[in-house]
Amino acid sequence: MTTMTFDTSLEYAQQLDANDPLAPMREHFSIPKQANGEDEYYFTGNSLGLQPKLAREAVLELLDAWQQRGVKGHFEGDYPWMPYHEFVTEHAAELVGAKAEEVVMMNSLTANLHLMMVSFYQPSGKRTKILIEDHAFPSDHYAVESQLKHHKQSVQENLLLWTPREGEELLNYDDLFEMIDQHGDEIALILLPGVQYYTGQVLDMQRITEKAHAKGINVGFDLAHAVGNIELALHDWQVDFACWCSYKYLNSGAGSVAGCFVHQKHTQNPELNRFAGWWGHDKSTRFKMENTFKPIPTAEGWQLSNPPVLSLAAVRGSYETISLAGGIGELRKKSLLLTEYLLGLIKAELGDRIRVITPDDPAQRGCQLSLMVNEPGLNGKALYSDLESQGITTDWREPNVIRVAPVPLYNQFQDAYHFVRILKACLNKEANHVR
Ligand SMILES: *Cc1c(COP(=O)(O)O)cnc(C)c1O
Repeated sequence: MTTMTFDTSLEYAQQLDANDPLAPMREHFSIPKQANGEDEYYFTGNSLGLQPKLAREAVLELLDAWQQRGVKGHFEGDYPWMPYHEFVTEHAAELVGAKAEEVVMMNSLTANLHLMMVSFYQPSGKRTKILIEDHAFPSDHYAVESQLKHHKQSVQENLLLWTPREGEELLNYDDLFEMIDQHGDEIALILLPGVQYYTGQVLDMQRITEKAHAKGINVGFDLAHAVGNIELALHDWQVDFACWCSYKYLNSGAGSVAGCFVHQKHTQNPELNRFAGWWGHDKSTRFKMENTFKPIPTAEGWQLSNPPVLSLAAVRGSYETISLAGGIGELRKKSLLLTEYLLGLIKAELGDRIRVITPDDPAQRGCQLSLMVNEPGLNGKALYSDLESQGITTDWREPNVIRVAPVPLYNQFQDAYHFVRILKACLNKEANHVR
């Protein structure tokens, strides 16, 4: 905290809220209620973001348009459905630091990972390997293994894992760069998260991309936990492709339509292998219904189907909400303060009873902190359930982490205060049980 000296009182948290220019944004969201009618302390925006009122409005408008216009809705109204995905492209590009022609909202995250690997994993000669991290989100791991198998490549020989060192949770760059140095000419693709979902570690996407490109390796990022959380510059970093979902920090509803980035240097290459569909075909001749595929020379060229307008409406409302807050730069500014405050409070109130495995350096973390209970005999999962019964919504990740994500759009500094207060009470209660 820069302006005031840190203290652990409720008044201090209230003062931080009073000084927070984004505090009014909370009113743009529906906050779930506890049984006693009070707002939940919601810290699970890393899993499912809360509902923006504008998203609800946009979906209802769309339902009305369908009810009133039928098929004419494709072409009529303020937001006709035919080009509906285009209404969110500019915002999506801004969020990931890309040009509009490099981004498209389509499909779901894992589906997009597959489509991108069809284009960017082309094993040939001795370059057949894919490098991921050992603790990758299971869906990503399954997708990669199945791509190897699809290309008749042995998983055993071709899947390289970047693993934290013995006794550590965080990924160490020296280990990655050593693998790139040693096996660089055998690696076809590196696929890593922008923010690691379990630890909250932010990876240095620019440096990784540079190192990989120097060895001729394609690089893709899964931004599920990065987009809407930290600032990104995919175009400038020269990343080859990226995919993300829109229901975590982008607050667009469970399973909502996902995002995909293809760098400009690739979008205009019609030779790039891809799985094609009619919505990726040149717009001016799409409805001639001919059989020769001519890809749109932008990220849209990877689209398969006509846009899922109901979930795109939620995305549109959600992006408008982020714009009202001033965009990702403003969100990140508050996020740095909010998470620093939460971390400071945990350290001050709980000392080493809780171990935070997320990096201490603010530049290497987003909003999320991953907590491990550090008391012998004390069951982290029981503690998690106890918190839940007290109105605190966090999430539990096996084997032993409670993830807490204060989200700058709707969380208050007071939420963090109450989290630590209740966590301390629950810890004391659990510790009494153990004794
Ligand atoms: C949330 C998340 C997913 C979920 O994939 P879906 O295809 O959206 O179900 C995949 N990978 C990562 C890294 C995630 O964080």
